[in-house]
Amino acid sequence: MSEQDRIQTDGQKRRKRVQLFKKVLIIGIIIAIILPIVLCTILFIRMNRLERQIDVLLSQKAEEVTVNEVASKEALTTGNSGETAGDDASAEEMAESNILTLSQGENLTEDDEKKKVYLTFDDGPSTHTADILDICKSYNVRVTFFVVGKTGSENEALYRRIVEEGHTLGMHSYSHKYNEIYESKDAFGTDLAKLQEYLYDITGTWSRIYRFPGGSSNTVSTVPMQELISYLEEMDITYYDWNISCGDAASKGLDARQIADNVIEHVAEHNSSMVLLHDAKDKTATVEALPLIIEALQAMDDVEIVPITADTDKIQHITSQNEMSKE
Ligand code: ZN
Repeated sequence: MSEQDRIQTDGQKRRKRVQLFKKVLIIGIIIAIILPIVLCTILFIRMNRLERQIDVLLSQKAEEVTVNEVASKEALTTGNSGETAGDDASAEEMAESNILTLSQGENLTEDDEKKKVYLTFDDGPSTHTADILDICKSYNVRVTFFVVGKTGSENEALYRRIVEEGHTLGMHSYSHKYNEIYESKDAFGTDLAKLQEYLYDITGTWSRIYRFPGGSSNTVSTVPMQELISYLEEMDITYYDWNISCGDAASKGLDARQIADNVIEHVAEHNSSMVLLHDAKDKTATVEALPLIIEALQAMDDVEIVPITADTDKIQHITSQNEMSKE
C-alpha cells in the first residue's frame, strides 16, 4: 500500500467516525427532548386520576358527616307533665310539634334504586289500629308500628294482626311515661324488657327495633341519651328516629290534606324517608290522610313503601359514640 493510499484510507475512516458521531449525537438530542415530554405526559395523567379519586373520597366523607347530623335545634323543648300512658300521649305531642322535617340523615343509595318510604306509626295500638291495618291491606302496603304496652284481648289481637299481616312490630316503651323511663338506665331497661317480653308472649315475635318516646334527640331525659343508646346496642336493638314528620302531633290539629302534603312534599328529599305518624284515638285525621299518602306515593315511579327491616338505613338524630369513633 502506497503512502497516498494509506492517507486516503485514514481519511475515509475519519469521515465514517465523524458520521457515526453525528448520528449518535442526533439520536441523543432526540431522546433528550422526547423522553421528558413522555414522562411529563404520564405524570400528568396520573395526577389527574389521583385528583379525581380524592374528589370522590371527599364527597363520600361529606355524605357521612351529613348522616350524623343531629337535629338538636329542632329538638324537644318540653318535659313530661305527668301524662299517663294512653292514647293521648300528650307530652310527646308537645315535644314533637316543633319538629317538622329534619335534615337528610341517610346513606345515599344507588341512583337506580327506588327511594324507600317507611311509614311508621307511634303510640298504638288504639281505636284506629284496625282501620290503619285495613287501609294498608287494601293498598297492599306494609308499614311499621312502634307500639306501647296495652292490655286486653282487643289490643292483643291488634298486636297479632300487625305481625300476621306482614308489618314490622317495633317498640316505643311499655309505659310511654317520660318521667319513669328516662329516670334512670335501670328504669329504662326494665320498661324495655317488659314490653319486649310482653310482645313476645302475645305474638311469638322478638322485636329488635325501638323508637325512643320523644326521639333520641329529646331533652327531657335525665339520663344522658348516649347511655341509653349504648344500652340498646348491648341488647342488640336498633333504634330509629324520623326525617319526615307528618305534623299530626301539632296541637293546632292539621286536616288530612295538610298531613298528607307534609309527607308527600318531602319524600323526594331523601333516599330513605322515615315518616313519623301517630296511631292514637284522637288522630282521626292521620287515618284519613293515609289513603291520600299511599295513593300519591304509589303514583311515583321511583318510590316504594316498605316496612323497616334489618338492612334499613339507620335514621337517627343522635349517633352512638361507638359509631362515631369508627369514622
Ligand atoms: Zn310516642
